Amino acid sequence: MRILILSDLHSNYEALEAVVEDAAGSYDEVVCLGDVVGYGGDPNRVTEWVRANTMAVIRGNHDRACTGDAVVEWFSGPAQIAAEWTNGELTGENRRFLEQLPAGPLAWDGVYLMHGSPRDEDEYIVDKGEAARLLPYLPGDICFFGHTHIQGGFGLRRGLAWRLAAPADGEHERVHQMEPDTLYLLNPGSVGQPRDMDRRAAYGLYDTEAKVLALRRTPYDIERARKRILEASLPAFLADRLAQGR
Ligand code: ZN
Repeated sequence: MRILILSDLHSNYEALEAVVEDAAGSYDEVVCLGDVVGYGGDPNRVTEWVRANTMAVIRGNHDRACTGDAVVEWFSGPAQIAAEWTNGELTGENRRFLEQLPAGPLAWDGVYLMHGSPRDEDEYIVDKGEAARLLPYLPGDICFFGHTHIQGGFGLRRGLAWRLAAPADGEHERVHQMEPDTLYLLNPGSVGQPRDMDRRAAYGLYDTEAKVLALRRTPYDIERARKRILEASLPAFLADRLAQGR
């Protein structure tokens, strides 16, 4: 089975469209690690695509915030404004879909899906030390997470942790073969709001039989996505950061 792994789409339809086109023919099923909405200007179109095309989806903190969960009180000003706007924009069906999403970790075809970390859906895993400390909580050897908007993730073996490289500037893909006796926390990166200084949309492809992960980046129409945010009268900061990739 070849899985297309999407995370942190954040209502960015232009980025999602570019990813789906770039990945065409390379996958059998789609899974999503949460944050379908929040920040961006197209919550309904992105949620409808996710509803129609994904086999497994877990919730992110923004999916909760945008459907009225109190987690919104912890958000920064621009994130809070976007969450409140999204809450008013979502159709009833899309809101219900987002509200009923399960929390991770979710077992799916031999891998595990989570938004933040295996012990806390809101926890950020940013560095190797944090990844190593989560070892006792990993439900299996292949765990996919999002939330940080930083593509790559970590390999863990015998007390050692190392980082998996994302594609370099101008590079389309980085391929990683999973090794035996190793646990992995893998991050496909953010489709709709990358924060790793690469403004291209990020995603992952995982082959469950060959145990091979491809981390990919693809350019998309950032100008159009920026315009959608500004047309919705959301903070300009949310539009500008797309162009900066941070
Ligand atoms: Zn996110």
